[in-house]
Order: sequence, then structure tokens, then C-alpha cells
Amino acid sequence: MNPPSTESTARPAAIHDFASKLQRPGLREPLLAYVAWRRAVRAARAEAAERADASAALPEPPDFAPLSINLDLSTACNYACGHCIDWDALNLPDKHDLDELYAALRAMTERGLRSVILIGGGEPTLHPAFGPVVRFLKELQLQVAVVTNGSRNGVIAEVADAFTAGDWVRLSLDAGSDEVFQAMHRPKGRGIDLDEICASAAQIPAANPAVQLGYSFVITWKGASRAEEHIIENVHEMESAARRAKAAGFDYISFKPFLSRAREGAEVLAPESAEAGQASIIERVQAGLDAARQHEDESFRVIESTNLRVFLAGTWREFTAQPQVCHMQALRQVVSPLGVFNCPAHRGVDKARLGAAGLWADPQAGKQATAALLDEFDAAHECREVTCLYNPANHLIESLIAGETDPELALPERTEPGDTFL
Ligand code: SF4
Repeated sequence: MNPPSTESTARPAAIHDFASKLQRPGLREPLLAYVAWRRAVRAARAEAAERADASAALPEPPDFAPLSINLDLSTACNYACGHCIDWDALNLPDKHDLDELYAALRAMTERGLRSVILIGGGEPTLHPAFGPVVRFLKELQLQVAVVTNGSRNGVIAEVADAFTAGDWVRLSLDAGSDEVFQAMHRPKGRGIDLDEICASAAQIPAANPAVQLGYSFVITWKGASRAEEHIIENVHEMESAARRAKAAGFDYISFKPFLSRAREGAEVLAPESAEAGQASIIERVQAGLDAARQHEDESFRVIESTNLRVFLAGTWREFTAQPQVCHMQALRQVVSPLGVFNCPAHRGVDKARLGAAGLWADPQAGKQATAALLDEFDAAHECREVTCLYNPANHLIESLIAGETDPELALPERTEPGDTFL
């Protein structure tokens, strides 16, 4: 299958336009160093093959670290969401050694790390050191984002003063009514309801208006499933969720389609699972999105994820044609108590594991593990069912490595303001 063409494929959403983000100062320089290294590796291999010299030494990687990470503080969660993609990796005994985690974050920052998304596995605010970790990251002058289930907004508000412009907090709520919210999320413990969550979320921008507050909505449909679990449908609540989000003072609502886990563990888009048929679910999602858009104005945005754009355009399979080498795994990784993984789509999957949670506390070890996985992980095969958000960026980098063009010229610097989250 060919990579997506710009004519036939919906453009990535701005937050997912990684190819453009990588042209920004601070990201472009390490990317160019990576491209130069991978070009040298290919040239050395080609020369060695000509000489039939299997033992030829390869050029050393530059002194790099991922530019952006997903940091899973904990696998603990106080919900039991039927649609949770990380179900198998929740509430496990594995924990970070905090000293080692801080050492790893410091070492990565010294080598290029620019941004951190505190996210799942579990619920990040349940970790007792959530506040100190946020303050530590901000002392390192990193951009920070938090993805939360909304049950502990007060914990985020307590540390909100540390956030700076461009940082964001996004609540995974997925419903317009408390009835659907409860059925989908099954919160453990009393007093967690959608009204209360929306009311308490307002504490965060009240403590620091620089923080962008988002309402996340994973669109689900009847017929979708996760193992034995039948997924609760919420597509009929897209408009009411947008109305609720706006009334509660959120800056935006973002919609994305439900992903299933393929047999090998990767996260995949599967609209064909819809009981009413693929065409019907696409039509209903489009109608829901149009209705939600009626609430947009200068203070409230409705965002379609890239996955949703290609879902609606019917072009999602074009994003499943990956190059053999996934270059993004050197630029963005997942640090979890279960280990370091090459991609959020393969969180907890053995083949995608680079090493133990504290891997980057020894930057040499992090670099060597990344170099090894670049050779071992065949993205064209392992990600053949994944609608990969990084697909255009990966093909761009591949063309810079494989092509004749000077990467400095092919990748001009972009200086417009924007975030560094990958
Ligand atoms: S090709 Fe895409 S889905 Fe696969 S590891 Fe790379 S970024 Fe992740």
C-alpha cells in the first residue's frame, strides 16, 4: 500500500501535524542530527554489503534522547471503563523508583527532551507524587500536559500555578449525560458524577488561566467491543457533550473514534464493527460533529482528531502503510512503570519495549536500546493495522534519509509559535 497522498487524505489536525512541529527550533536540530546518523548507518551497511563484511562497525548514534514522552506515573485507576484500551495493564504492582525517574527525566532533558504528557495506563493524579513531579518537570522548563479522568481536579488545581502558556489539561469524559458517563466509566467510590467533575474542573483555569482546558470524547458505537466487553454507545451525545463543555468553561472539546486492540496488541480503528454498518456509523458521527460545531465561537473550539478526520473521509487505511523503520520511536517514547515503550499504540507490548522504567537514567543505555529497536521493530508489519497519527512524519523522515536532497534545505525552519508535544 502506498503512503497517504496529500490530495486523497484528510490533513492531520494541527495538534497532530508532527511533520510541521518537527521543523520548529529545538526539534529541527536534533531531527537533522538523527537523519544524518541514519544516512551514515545506511551508507556504512551498503559499503559493508559490497565488501561482504558482516562485522563492519556502524557509526555511533548522536547524543540524543526522545524529544517528547508520554509519562505514565502509575497503572492505578479508580474507574473501570468498558472502552479502556489499556485494560490489561491497569492496577499492576509495578511502580516507578522516583529517584531513578527524576534522574532519567533530567538526563533526557539535557539531551533534547522538550515536552511531557502525563497520561495513562492509569490515572496520573492518583500517584502520591503527582504534584511534585509536575513541579519538577516545570523546573526543567519542559512543556507539560495532563490527561486525566477528572475525578481529582483539586489535585491538579493545587499545582496549576506551575503551568505556563501552551500547557494543557484534558479530561476524558466521553459523555453528555451522567447516565452515559456512569455506564461507560463505572467510577469506583462515591460522589463521582459528571456535574461534579465539570464544576470542579473550573478550579484549574481559575488557578491559572494560561492552562488550556479540554473535554475529550472518544466516540463509541453499538457493536464495538473490547475482548468480552460490549461497548456502551455514546455517539448520540456528541452535541450535548459540546454544549456541556462550553457551559462549564472548557476551552475546547476534542472528538476521536474508539480504537480496538488487535490480536498482536496494537490499537486499531475498526468502524466495520458497528452493528448498524460502517456507512451508517460514519453518517451518524458526521451528524454529531456538525451538531457539536453549532456551539463553536471565539472562546470554544470543536476539534476533530486526525483519526476522526480520516475515519470520516474513509481514508484511514492509507495511514496503515508504515515505512519499515519507524523513526518516530527515536523522537517520542512512552515511559511507564512497566518499562519504556516505543509508541503509545504499543504500550505494554513486549516487542515494543526498550527497557526498564529507569532506562534513560543511563543515557548511553537508552540510546543503544533505541538504536537496536530501530533495526528490530518492523513497523511495516507490526503497525500494518494501526491508523498511525505519525504516518506522514515517518514518511517525511524516511524520504530525508533515503533521498538525495540536502535535509537542511528540504526541512526549512518554521518559527511560528506552537507546542512541542509529539
Ligand atoms: S509506525 Fe506509528 S504506530 Fe507504529 S510504532 Fe511508529 S508511531 Fe507507533
